[in-house]
Amino acid sequence: MTDPLYIRMHPADNVAIVANDGGLAPGARFADGLTLCDRVPQGHKVALVDLPMGSAVLRYNVPIGYALKDIPAGSWVHERLLEMPAARGLEGLPISTLRAERLPPLEGYTFEGYRNADGSVGSRNILAITTTVQCVAGVVEFAVKRIKEELLPRFPNVDDVVGLEHSYGCGVAIDAPDAIIPIRTLRNITLNPNFGGEVMVVSLGCEKLQPERLLPPGTIQIVDERSVADVGISADAALDVVCLQSEHHIGFMSMIDSIMQAAVLHLEKLDARRRETVPASELVVGVQCGGSDAFSGVTANPAVGFCTDLLVRAGASVMFSETTEVRDGIDQLTSRASTPEVAEAMIREMAWYDAYLQKGLVDRSANTTPGNKKGGLSNIVEKAMGSIVKSGTAPISGVLAPGEKLRQKGLTYAATPASDFICGTLQLAAGMNLHVFTTGRGTPYGLAEVPVIKVATRSDLARRWHDLMDINAGRIADGEASIEDVGWELFHLMLEIASGRKKTWAEHWKLHNALVLFNPAPIT
Ligand code: CA
Repeated sequence: MTDPLYIRMHPADNVAIVANDGGLAPGARFADGLTLCDRVPQGHKVALVDLPMGSAVLRYNVPIGYALKDIPAGSWVHERLLEMPAARGLEGLPISTLRAERLPPLEGYTFEGYRNADGSVGSRNILAITTTVQCVAGVVEFAVKRIKEELLPRFPNVDDVVGLEHSYGCGVAIDAPDAIIPIRTLRNITLNPNFGGEVMVVSLGCEKLQPERLLPPGTIQIVDERSVADVGISADAALDVVCLQSEHHIGFMSMIDSIMQAAVLHLEKLDARRRETVPASELVVGVQCGGSDAFSGVTANPAVGFCTDLLVRAGASVMFSETTEVRDGIDQLTSRASTPEVAEAMIREMAWYDAYLQKGLVDRSANTTPGNKKGGLSNIVEKAMGSIVKSGTAPISGVLAPGEKLRQKGLTYAATPASDFICGTLQLAAGMNLHVFTTGRGTPYGLAEVPVIKVATRSDLARRWHDLMDINAGRIADGEASIEDVGWELFHLMLEIASGRKKTWAEHWKLHNALVLFNPAPIT
């Protein structure tokens, strides 16, 4: 790509982003005659017309800011020239006004998955060891290493062994109302479909989060057969707990022996499982973005949005999240809600998060990073408009509060912070069996519990990180592929990866981020 090129997202926009690798120098002339008066880095905005002081700067046909001084056509429009608009109030929003036509069903697509007793389907066959408290993390890590070395080779159908380590469990105000969030997150992660219902717990003994509190008897819920059911622990089955403070343990090695003995029983059951052909509707996909740039909302996120529509048409479950990155598009979301109840639930989650941020004396604008700005995103409004397109065009048919488990098909708004690790952890708790992650600045993000497919927004990133990025959506900006092409490519790759026929680069290199719980409750 040598000719100067800009990308305008909407005919009404008065700014566009520079597409060329390395940006463009002053004097660069676009096909329509517009000439740059400043150097403009790649992904940054150029004024298409003269923007008088105080006028609205439009991208995605939305005011992303107001000019702080006169900005001549051809100028670099960066965040220091813009006053950010106030957040849209949560009153008087359009409620379920968009009667989105039901998308035509997409039939005949399948993958090879692990069917669980309750009907849910895993994309991997993993032994997860649940921990009640951070105190046991070192012991569990030691045991997991030995299980992998000494036991796993005997169970070739088991993909991996993972210790569900976290920083919660004690030293926390466990009776605070918001403590329900980290507790149900841990509970629901334990029940993720990729763990096959084989629940084993390692506890210290004296911690606040006792095993029975984490996984009370009868944690199973019976749900109607149309929905994504819980992986259950039967009400009468005793919870399998190794308690390190138990008097049976004499010395460290006796603890390791106990964990390994328990692991063998679960590994035997997991090893007996086989993949079977299941419809694509069994996919439970969580989408998020991280390390975003101005191309995120031009290439990767629209391609993910197209794929989201394909998944919804195939009857699958898709979650989009990241409250601070959709807050500025709340009117788009409430109008797309399939029912007024869904719209009200969305408003409830936004209001909760507004209050949460206010307690910390910040607002949603605390979201953007130095890297976002370097990548051309001036503020959270611009970032949100690009982030929200991951949700495609389907009606939003459900809302989850943080840490809740997904119980339905279609498109759901799973309320989570935008923090990559916390969003991933909460989507894991919701029951995802596949994760899609778009990035423009680049991040090696991965999870041990589910495959993470990473989509690069720019070809330059995809070339430099050729063994970390799974799909290059930058080809859209290069004019080499359409949004639909990349959306379909992602859809087909999902079926390959969910079937275990392919691995993601993060799986290949075993790049795993920590589980990070969202704990809005006090620490003691
Ligand atoms: Ca994120």
